[in-house]
Amino acid sequence: MAVTTFSVSRAVPRHVRCEHCGAEYVYHLSRVGIGEAGYGLTDSQEVVNQKAANAAFADLWRELDTGAEAVPCPACFKYQAHMTAAARAVQWGWVRGVGGQALGWLPVLTVGAVFAAVIAFPNNTDTAITIALAVAGVLVLAGLIAALAFRLSPCEPNRWSESYRAQRAAALAWPRADFNQFARNGDPYVEDLVTGREQEYEGVTFLWVPPEEIESEATVPLVLAEGQEVQVELSDADDDAVFLDADRVRNAPPGCRVCLRVFSVYRPRTATADEEPA
Ligand SMILES: [Zn+2]
Repeated sequence: MAVTTFSVSRAVPRHVRCEHCGAEYVYHLSRVGIGEAGYGLTDSQEVVNQKAANAAFADLWRELDTGAEAVPCPACFKYQAHMTAAARAVQWGWVRGVGGQALGWLPVLTVGAVFAAVIAFPNNTDTAITIALAVAGVLVLAGLIAALAFRLSPCEPNRWSESYRAQRAAALAWPRADFNQFARNGDPYVEDLVTGREQEYEGVTFLWVPPEEIESEATVPLVLAEGQEVQVELSDADDDAVFLDADRVRNAPPGCRVCLRVFSVYRPRTATADEEPA
């Protein structure tokens, strides 16, 4: 049966409240959604394309909600518990890198062993080759055992060296205040909103908040481009991309327009979340 495949990708800012020290930080999370649809007897190409696109978007949102990268907290340099799977991938990638280098050295070492064996047993080529093969075999076996032991060992990223974790945090994480400061002008996460509507969004200040602050109707600080700090009162009726009325921004300078954006937050994968939407 013919099948149409559709893929869609998106990047979002992921908000984390550190479970170790309470600091808030943000990192870049990017995912791809894949959708497939087959042709029924009466389906037109258009219908099948739409089905595949719908499936791809459903997959994308699921991946964005339940996915996580291994990004340590920029305040205490610790990883969150839900990042362990991603951390294992980082760790495994490192081992594969080392393993790849070892494999690269294997022919060199084997040739070296042949030379050494030929010098040691000048009149016995068979013995020399046997020794060389044994050396290569032992190296491969040692590598396999090390990889297996590594695979079975628990992944504890918070025991990785602090300097490595600090370096990862510096490269990948922004403290929330830093993120809000550079993201208030829009870039880089509002393309979906403003493309084709640039005039409408001219001069708008974007304010990113986690969903929990909307639910609890929190008052959150916002530093405007001029350096003035204002307080924004959230309402539980707020949603992603809404414009906030001036009376919701305390001490707002005239003409101040605020567009609310909602951070991506981690949601554990559940049985129901995995079910295909009807
Ligand atoms: Zn922390």
